[in-house]
Amino acid sequence: MKAKGNFFLDNDDMRYQILQEDKLHELYKLFSSDEKEALGVSTTEEFQSLWLEMIESVGEFAGTQLRDNAAQVEKEDLVLKDGKVEVPPTMQSNVKTFVELGAHALSVPIKHGGMDAPILMELAGSEMIARACPSTLLNVGWYSSIANIIALFGNEEIQSMFLPDMITGEVSGSMSLTEPDVGSDLASMRSYGEEQEDGTWKIYGSKQFISNGSGGLSLVLAQNKKGAKGLKSLSLFVVPQELDGKANYIVSKIEEKPGLHGSATCALQFDGSKGWLVGKNGLGFKYMSLLMNEARLAVGFQGLGLMEACYRLAKDYADQRVAWSKPISQHEMICEKLLDMEAEIKTFRSLLYRGSYYASIVHFMERRIEDKALGDERTKELEKEIKNYQRKLREWTPLLKWWSGERSFVIARTCLQIHGGYGFTKEYQPEWWVRESLIISIYEGTSEIQALMCIKDTIKDIIRNPRRFAESLVAARMKALAETDAIKKRYYRIKLTYLNSIVTLVMKLMKQNVKGTFNENKSSDIIGLLKKLRETLVTFDNISPALLNASRICEMKAIVALSKAAVEDGERDPSRRSFALRFVNRWYPTMLRNKAELEWDDEQVAAIAQSKDDIAQASEG
Ligand SMILES: Cc1cc2nc3c(=O)[nH]c(=O)nc-3n(C[C@H](O)[C@H](O)[C@H](O)COP(=O)(O)OP(=O)(O)OC[C@H]3O[C@@H](n4cnc5c(N)ncnc54)[C@H](O)[C@@H]3O)c2cc1C
Repeated sequence: MKAKGNFFLDNDDMRYQILQEDKLHELYKLFSSDEKEALGVSTTEEFQSLWLEMIESVGEFAGTQLRDNAAQVEKEDLVLKDGKVEVPPTMQSNVKTFVELGAHALSVPIKHGGMDAPILMELAGSEMIARACPSTLLNVGWYSSIANIIALFGNEEIQSMFLPDMITGEVSGSMSLTEPDVGSDLASMRSYGEEQEDGTWKIYGSKQFISNGSGGLSLVLAQNKKGAKGLKSLSLFVVPQELDGKANYIVSKIEEKPGLHGSATCALQFDGSKGWLVGKNGLGFKYMSLLMNEARLAVGFQGLGLMEACYRLAKDYADQRVAWSKPISQHEMICEKLLDMEAEIKTFRSLLYRGSYYASIVHFMERRIEDKALGDERTKELEKEIKNYQRKLREWTPLLKWWSGERSFVIARTCLQIHGGYGFTKEYQPEWWVRESLIISIYEGTSEIQALMCIKDTIKDIIRNPRRFAESLVAARMKALAETDAIKKRYYRIKLTYLNSIVTLVMKLMKQNVKGTFNENKSSDIIGLLKKLRETLVTFDNISPALLNASRICEMKAIVALSKAAVEDGERDPSRRSFALRFVNRWYPTMLRNKAELEWDDEQVAAIAQSKDDIAQASEG
């Protein structure tokens, strides 16, 4: 295949990250002999070729049909008719080709008709699709993700009812969480199900902003009885859009949006719709969290694809546009912007691919632990090894989603800026990419929600193991002083700034809640402080400083993780050292800014946040 017109072959960095660290080799080792036989592979090389060929064909599809159709997708409107969405012809043709490639069910287990592809490979496909046409990604992304939840948690009856049509591509799904009055705060959800004598359920309520809401079925998260509240009463239901040729739920509205023109964002109305419980009653939030975590990685890839498209667009334009007798790409400020974009994209890809590799490892390790197909001894080892991957994945997922959301927009805007006046016209693509970038920080949990998840886990981790935290602080101090390699030295400064910021934050929490004085420069005091924090945190009245600074900590933690990935890439491959050096130098000042901002006690915010009951009472009154 030719590199031109193929979004995989024209991108050496993608290939590098997929093959880095022997990722596919390690995954191959986790396949059982039955699975290898079903795939028709008996060596690592064959396994690798299988997925690389598959990804090449998705790359060709993205780099030709999707790219060529993107402008037409923008022109054709979705139509709401009789409670269903009519998808325009160009999008229909995009989805049809994707299904014909067999790419829609890649990660679905072989026993259900899929190919058991590592999620890493499926998500690499998402990057390329997003680079060409984000709307199409929103239409094709709902086959395997939904099918996998049904395969994992649904009983045989449900699996046989719903999976075959998803595997043939006749039906795709959607994920219904958001309601008109409830988005981030899922515990306040009002939709509910009522169990029927025959074991099925009737679902009542309205769902809002549901992507692909007219795909054929929806996984609906709802309370397990009318009036219930909280996360523990949420159950997951699979609800077909039609039953016996009649509507089972309807699409009552399609949103008009600045981006994702070809993706139907639907209001859904469930009025006694027949549904089937997936898994156990009351565990819906747990199941949905699994789907959401994967979806968050997918949104990471959506942002990455968009960044790649914007960088290439900006670079091509800047190389051709001449001002003062030379291309604008050679004028210092534009040159710097382009180099920064490239370094950031490569670094982000490095961590994102590693994160999704860990997600793949966890997935197959879980399966092997359950079926013991690799023998008792190996199973025991896996039980230990998996924890490390799970921990890292949990730590990185909100960081990656946050970065994707916050940075896609900045990169799209930089691309527009580099295009000057043409960037602000509809004739050129940058304004479209800016519009497409706006959603990434909103769905699958807003940036603020990612930051809250990050801060919660960060503080929990530290108070669970204060000694480890204090040791890493001391080590970072020493290394920041002693390291002679310029890139690593910068990295340790970045890490030290982050750890010092955590100490500052903990001091603030202590000041608000516990009596006593501490010296933040003495590690014994820090351990003492953290132990005290562990003893007292449950009774903390005021965690406002942590909530206020969650985004800052999240950004800093992301920079630490990304810098580490850049340093490691530079160590493995000296040709990548220039990106690593640029990344750590570019982002160090952001660390200092965040730390300085965090040091300020913003009393106005604290006062308003603590008076929330008064505001709520006033608005109720
Ligand atoms: C195009 C599109 C597609 C979507 N697809 C789907 C889908 O397929 N399925 C689905 O279920 N939903 C979907 N959504 C909904 C989306 O996930 C929600 O919009 C999102 O989770 C935010 O919820 P909300 O809009 O109710 O905002 P709110 O929760 O009301 O939040 C409003 C603002 O307040 C902030 N905020 C809220 N709580 C806090 C807090 N404690 N601290 C600090 N800040 C806070 C938020 O970050 C946000 O900035 C989609 C939305 C859009 C626009």
